[in-house]
Amino acid sequence: MRHGRCLCGACSYEIDGDPIVVAHCHCRDCQRVSGAGHTTGAMFHADGIRISGNPSSFDMTSENGNTVTRIFCGVCGSPLFGRNTGMPGVMTVAAGTLERSDDLVPQVAIFARTRAPWDLMDETLPTFDTQPGWKPGDEV
Ligand SMILES: [Zn+2]
Ligand SMILES: [Zn+2]
Repeated sequence: MRHGRCLCGACSYEIDGDPIVVAHCHCRDCQRVSGAGHTTGAMFHADGIRISGNPSSFDMTSENGNTVTRIFCGVCGSPLFGRNTGMPGVMTVAAGTLERSDDLVPQVAIFARTRAPWDLMDETLPTFDTQPGWKPGDEV
């Protein structure tokens, strides 16, 4: 079982199971939501995630017309989760909010086209200019 929480502790969560994929995302939305060069997200089956507290959320429409929901603590602003109607049944967890993330192994870097020059990308990873045509269950 994995545990995580926001900065202030108003929101916390537990997760059963292992991540389906761990990815660095350099898209402009992730840069704005994190205030950093990229986010690192671990995707899990949504039914294995139990959330305590009452996080806020924000919906927007992605380039390909899906609804992307950003879930964050409304008190301290920590990003916590992301959902995408294009990938039902899974939820991305902001890796930095996990209590213990030492065992996470990033497998891919996406939206490299908007990477900031000051944000070094892991050159050893498969890298895609945008979102690859990848779905949970496919080989990465
Ligand atoms: Zn908080
Ligand atoms: Zn992104």
